[in-house]
Amino acid sequence: MGFDSLGLSDAVLQSVRESGYDNPTPIQAQAIPLILEGKDVIGASQTGTGKTAAFALPTLSKIQPLDKPQILVLEPTRELAHQVAEQFEKYGKQTGCKVALLYGGVGYGTQCDQLEVADIVVATPGRLVDHFFRGTMRFGEIKCLILDEVDRMLDMGFLPQVRKIVNLCPWEGRQTLFFSATMPPAIQTFATWCLTDPVSVEI
Ligand code: AMP
Repeated sequence: MGFDSLGLSDAVLQSVRESGYDNPTPIQAQAIPLILEGKDVIGASQTGTGKTAAFALPTLSKIQPLDKPQILVLEPTRELAHQVAEQFEKYGKQTGCKVALLYGGVGYGTQCDQLEVADIVVATPGRLVDHFFRGTMRFGEIKCLILDEVDRMLDMGFLPQVRKIVNLCPWEGRQTLFFSATMPPAIQTFATWCLTDPVSVEI
């Protein structure tokens, strides 16, 4: 099965073709239709499975440029945040939507400039909370919250920040996507709190 029948937008399909991908990976084939339908999804999937495109392609297919954050992705490390932001830029090139990349240990100037026009924000939790307190991150238009590598974020002690961020995003009408390589009880409990009627996708 190719990408054409999954229901992605034309702008996103064009970028998929330019990326040279012939067929969706198993997680993409399962998750893309569910995400397009608006379901909350729990994915137990490692990196290297095409997980990033599995959440980037359908979420990008559903937004228009607004110059306000509509998709928010949390990542445990700056390296992962960087890679994921790059993929959103690549797949979203034809959509006109813009990406802000936020992580700690660097100045705020460029990040604040990006936030003024961003439709997609990819961030590590600590720096995102800092931007909230500075008044530079707006949560009111977030339609899709993506929590990636949740087990690693919790191992790194980010639970308080991640909980705060989940609470700052609108609950009403929000789609939440939750990815974790492992699902011990503490993560199950956290997922139950974040998600509404989720569908599980396992690879
Ligand atoms: P990820 O699991 O998101 O880290 O993706 C792993 C790699 O697979 C990335 O370099 C992607 O560019 C690539 N990739 C994602 N989807 C596909 C696909 N459908 N066909 C071929 N390569 C892909």
